[in-house]
This record gives sequence, structure tokens and C-alpha cells, in this order.
Amino acid sequence: MHFTELGIETRLEKQLAHQGITTPTEIQSQAVPTAIAGHDVFAQSKTGSGKTLAFLLPAVHRVMKQKALSKRDPRVLIIAPTRELATQVFTQCRLLIAGTSISVVKVLGGENFNDQVKALRKDPQIVIGTPGRIGDHLAQRSLQLAGLELLVFDEADRMLDLGFAEQLNKINDEANHRLRQTLLFSATLDHAQVEVTSRNLLRTPKKIILSDAH
Ligand code: ADP
Ligand code: MG
Repeated sequence: MHFTELGIETRLEKQLAHQGITTPTEIQSQAVPTAIAGHDVFAQSKTGSGKTLAFLLPAVHRVMKQKALSKRDPRVLIIAPTRELATQVFTQCRLLIAGTSISVVKVLGGENFNDQVKALRKDPQIVIGTPGRIGDHLAQRSLQLAGLELLVFDEADRMLDLGFAEQLNKINDEANHRLRQTLLFSATLDHAQVEVTSRNLLRTPKKIILSDAH
């Protein structure tokens, strides 16, 4: 199985090959085409199974290939539980968009707020951040989600463990419901709240649940 068989741009496959990534993992094989087809996705697979690319590939593919549905940016918002995890997603995203005109901004807690406001004013198509700081920018209107097409919750189980349920629902409420597609990724299902919270965040999602063997 090759990445282009999942429906992504040849350009993205080449970027991955530069990183020595040539064969999709199981979660990538299943989640990427489902997300590109426009479905909401509820995906669970163990840590280290490649969930980051499972949502970044359809996200970047959308910005590269599909016409913007609105004049308002960002088109994609990715929420991750911690500064470290959000930074890993940001780093992988930057590799994928290298050499394109696509821009990505990260907004993490503990970093200078005004610098982030300035970066957000440049209308990046993709924003990656932690729940608290994303919430702060929404409250200040320095981040607006009127044009949002794709909302991704990475490591949702971890975000719930950290007490961010309320924050996630708030972000969800701010997002453009007419344009929006939502992807939710989790490493475990034993957190009872994951299933419950996902019911608020997702619309008739395709469920992709992999056993720990994958
Ligand atoms: P998860 O989010 O499921 O814990 P990550 O997305 O962080 O997993 O990926 C774990 C590691 O596997 C990373 O170092 C990533 O670069 C690598 N990786 C991801 N997809 C592939 C692939 N298709 N082939 C080889 N390595 C991959
Ligand atoms: Mg991950």
C-alpha cells in the first residue's frame, strides 16, 4: 500500500519519502481516505501508531487541493493536550507544507500572547494549539472560526484527563457548524468520557477502532 492510494497529493507522498516514510500505518490507511471523503471520524489506536499523519495528511491535502469554502482563515484548527504534543504536530505539519504557500501558526500556553496575536493576524490557513490558549484567543477575538472547515481533536482522552472537556465544547461551539468536519483521535477508550464527549463534538462519525495489535 502506498500513500497515493489513500487519495493524497503526490507532492505529500514525496515529502513523506524524504523523511523515509513510505508505507502507511493501519490507522493512516483507514482514517485518511475516510477523512478525505468528508466524514467526521472517531479514531482510536495505540500510542506510536501514527495518528499525527492520520489527521495531518487529510488536513494539508484539503488546504492544498480543495478551494476554500470561505474567505476567512483559518481553514483548519488542531487542538492537542500539551505544549510538547502540539509542537510535535506543528513540526510534522511544517515538513508537509515545506515549499508551498500554506502557512501554519502554533498558539501554546506559556508563550507570548501578543506575538501570537500578530501571527494570527496574518491569516494562517492552519492553526495548532493547546486548549487553554486557543480558548483565550477565541475570547479575545484574536482567533475567529467563521471560515473553519476542519477541526481536529488530537489525544482527546488525554485532554479529558487534564480537565479540558468544557474548553473543548466551547471551541466546538465557536466553530462554523455549516462548513465544519471534525476528526477526533484517542489512544484509549477506557476513559468513559471520551465516548460521551465525542457525541457532542462529532456528527454521525465513522468509527475506526484498532486493537492494540495495530
Ligand atoms: P501516535 O500519535 O499514534 O502516538 P505518532 O503520530 O506520534 O503516533 O507517530 C509515532 C512515530 O511514528 C513518529 O516518529 C512518526 O514519525 C512515525 N511514523 C508515523 N507514520 C509512519 C509511517 N507510515 N511509517 C513510518 N513511520 C511513521
Ligand atoms: Mg499522537
